[in-house]
Amino acid sequence: MDFAYSKEEQAFRESLRAWLEKKRDEGAMGGHTPASLDEVVEQGRRWQKELYEGGWCGVHWPREYGGQGAGLLEQIIFQEELARIGSPQLINLLALSMVGPLLIDHGTDEQKKRYLKPILTAEEIWCQGYSEPGAGSDLASVSTSAVLDGDEYVVNGQKVWTSYAQYSTFCILLVRSDPEVPKHKGLTLMIADMRQPGVEVRPLRQMNGDSEFNEVYFDDVRVPKDNVIGREGEGWTMAVAMLMYERATLTFQRQLQSRVALQDLIAFCKEYGPDGTPASKDPLVRQRLARSYIESHALRLTSLRHLTKQLKGSPPGPEGSMEKVFWSEMFQRMLQTAMSVSGPYSQLAPGDERAPSEGRWPHLYLYSRGRTIAAGSSEIQRGIIAQRVLGLPKDR
Ligand SMILES: Cc1cc2nc3c(=O)[nH]c(=O)nc-3n(C[C@H](O)[C@H](O)[C@H](O)COP(=O)(O)OP(=O)(O)OC[C@H]3O[C@@H](n4cnc5c(N)ncnc54)[C@H](O)[C@@H]3O)c2cc1C
Repeated sequence: MDFAYSKEEQAFRESLRAWLEKKRDEGAMGGHTPASLDEVVEQGRRWQKELYEGGWCGVHWPREYGGQGAGLLEQIIFQEELARIGSPQLINLLALSMVGPLLIDHGTDEQKKRYLKPILTAEEIWCQGYSEPGAGSDLASVSTSAVLDGDEYVVNGQKVWTSYAQYSTFCILLVRSDPEVPKHKGLTLMIADMRQPGVEVRPLRQMNGDSEFNEVYFDDVRVPKDNVIGREGEGWTMAVAMLMYERATLTFQRQLQSRVALQDLIAFCKEYGPDGTPASKDPLVRQRLARSYIESHALRLTSLRHLTKQLKGSPPGPEGSMEKVFWSEMFQRMLQTAMSVSGPYSQLAPGDERAPSEGRWPHLYLYSRGRTIAAGSSEIQRGIIAQRVLGLPKDR
């Protein structure tokens, strides 16, 4: 692996850094901890639009679809610089990291023209309709049905844990289009418009108080045939291809999110201690921070190794599962440190004036618990690593 950047890549980094610093100083990233999810989404939309208008969003997407036509390395530099400046997570992350790349690789020309640009501008947010009450880890068991009627499918069924469905214009939906064939062969992936009659979104309340994810009901919802990604019956291949982007590329972005959290945690420990002495003077806290720093660095190097493979032309592979397991568990350990440093005050929620860091740590800690489940649980990821990376036999 070559860690050196070319002159052009360095110049790209410097001009991006200058732009970001200017925007930060102007307050464009939002200055305070948002009080609600609505505010997170609103701030996020504004910030992503600024990035797009500045020419930075979709750096490695083709120019004809609103991108900059640069390489994957420039995209990584973009993410690194966002992390360095402490940027909030981009709001349309699912679409930017998964739907967009899937459409670029497998979408029709019409689909690319219609859907890609509004993803970059955050005018259209997307959600992922994979999980169902009876199909999570065993994704091939989805039972939401799609029956062809003329040029449209009629969709009926229920999805669950659908993040940001209440803010979404489109859903990337996995359905059973043929119940007669073996389960992996009867699936189709399609684009469903969330604003049409028959789509009902019911928010679920999470333990951190947010309602980030939802139940989504489809009752005779019509989806044009042209909205199928790939071909009818290829849903399993398409769905797995999209999960690969999630576990590899998206994890690269999320490890940047944890670096931002670690920087904040270190700053917090230098200032805060429940008895007035900064926690950073406590040798046990110092060791835990050092461990998190080492883990974060190890994850960065592992992600870069995986990225090198992609730069050489391979699609994201099952190694992304290693990054996903390591990142999600490391993120939880880091937040446990934040909670123990805050001591009894860690129980205070955002909005309580006595809460250290405006209650950010307990909110993030509770959120982090779901990270070892979302995008495939740690058990499932370990199974993939055993079978597809190490070549061990199937467990059953
Ligand atoms: C924060 C968050 C956001 C999410 N967002 C979305 C979203 O936007 N869209 C979407 O479609 N889904 C989303 N999900 C759902 C997520 O993908 C599923 O929760 C996950 O795939 C697990 O499925 P399940 O909940 O049905 O659990 P189950 O599959 O019922 O698993 C229950 C337990 O059994 C274990 N288990 C199951 N099978 C095996 C096996 N073969 N070997 C070993 N252990 C096994 C699991 O590891 C888990 O511990 C989200 C989840 C979370 C937590």
